[in-house]
Amino acid sequence: MTTLIEPATGKPLADVEQHDAGDADRAVRAAHGAFTGAWRRINTRERGQLLRKLAEKIRENADELARLETRNVGKPIRDSRDEVGLAANVFEYYAGATNKVGGQTIPGAAPGVLLSFREPVGVCGIIVPWNFPIAITSWKSAPALAMGNCVVLKPAEQTPLTALRLAELALEAGIPEGVFTVLTGAGSVVGEALLRHPLVRKIAFTGSTEVGMNVMRTAADDIKRVSLELGGKSANLIFEDCDFERAVASAASSALGNAGQDCCARSRIFVQQSIYERFTSALKDAFEKLHVGDPLADETEMGPLVTEAHRKRVLSYIERGRAEGATLVTGGACPDDPGCYLQPTIFTDAKPDMAIVREEIFGPVVTVMPFRDEDDAVAMANDSVYGLSGSIWTRDIGRALRVARAVETGNLSINSGSSVHLEAPFGGVKRSGLGRELGLQALDHYTEWKTVYIDVTS
Ligand code: NAD
Repeated sequence: MTTLIEPATGKPLADVEQHDAGDADRAVRAAHGAFTGAWRRINTRERGQLLRKLAEKIRENADELARLETRNVGKPIRDSRDEVGLAANVFEYYAGATNKVGGQTIPGAAPGVLLSFREPVGVCGIIVPWNFPIAITSWKSAPALAMGNCVVLKPAEQTPLTALRLAELALEAGIPEGVFTVLTGAGSVVGEALLRHPLVRKIAFTGSTEVGMNVMRTAADDIKRVSLELGGKSANLIFEDCDFERAVASAASSALGNAGQDCCARSRIFVQQSIYERFTSALKDAFEKLHVGDPLADETEMGPLVTEAHRKRVLSYIERGRAEGATLVTGGACPDDPGCYLQPTIFTDAKPDMAIVREEIFGPVVTVMPFRDEDDAVAMANDSVYGLSGSIWTRDIGRALRVARAVETGNLSINSGSSVHLEAPFGGVKRSGLGRELGLQALDHYTEWKTVYIDVTS
């Protein structure tokens, strides 16, 4: 057992089982049994109905799930409500795919009939991080289940509570035992066991780039299918002809949402020289006005960081920024409070080679840097090993589209800070990941094409 600490209070929250490699083996074998047994016997219409029922169960229990998420992660309750709602919508969306996505008849040159089927992959090992637990659990599990796979899911050590509750709700919805199993415990134990298990045919991983590299290497030993959603250091490009007030508000919210513990956080803000001073000053005001506090309160916009260890890591970047010569414009300190709170922080005078510009801090910390023109803006945005998200603020539609095409990233928003749309593919380029989740594209990860040729000669 391990005791979880509530980030907002510093007090014990729950005791959670620490599963080991033996538990992982039993769970995978049970999942494989369900894959070849009970789950396979359920037809595609019934499978869709079960997933729709799970979406209903999530909605019926939305308040409880949102409170669990907030108390476990420290995120504002209104964000947790949105994310629980998203999880329900994701199950509902993929419920509709069970009897609509299939193979083809192919007009081949040979005289017989050429068919393809889209077969489920088998047991999918799903490994998720702590920053959006129920949302990311649903992004991966729903398409996997919709296509007839079984799932063994490992939530992050710090934040397993909503995944555990989801597993109970799946059983209540009538999904057979073994189809959706949650194992808690260390990544190095349970995660590794899933990576190495011969009956796990696919690994869907979201987490840090460092662990993602290890996942890919280990999966190579068995040629397991892998999809990776990894870190980010996204750019927010603010041109002088932007809608200034909206751009400032979005620069704050798209950097400070989830206390900056967001793979899509626009933590590198680049502002055209002519409005740089004015923008930085307005952003400072926005950061200082943000309502930081009790995540269970409706008015709270930013809660604590997830753990004390993570806060220390973020603080070490703030120290490094100072030591390397960047100017701290606001924030940088921890309020005198038992929770893991940290003030929203802005650095200026940062140089492209500084750690605060290059590395994913994963906290409420941004750098604001000036650029000259469009080419300069694109070059600065692309000067990163990551490519996950980003925003462009301009009223010039031609420029917006030129820049959107030139920025190396998997997702972008123009005059908006939004990142995720469940109907559209989501994922990264470069070291931000491999493959796409959400949308119909996610189904590609969870199916194998099988070609069958039928001789029709008499
Ligand atoms: P992490 O890489 O430390 O952990 C992620 C998961 O991997 C956890 O469940 C962990 O237990 C497990 N794990 C750790 N070591 C493992 C191993 N050796 N084998 C198998 N599994 C192992 O990441 P984190 O700190 O939980 O999450 C933060 C990171 O996730 C950030 O880098 C963030 O950018 C990234 N993230 C990316 C996306 C995206 O969609 N691209 C979304 C959310 C978070």
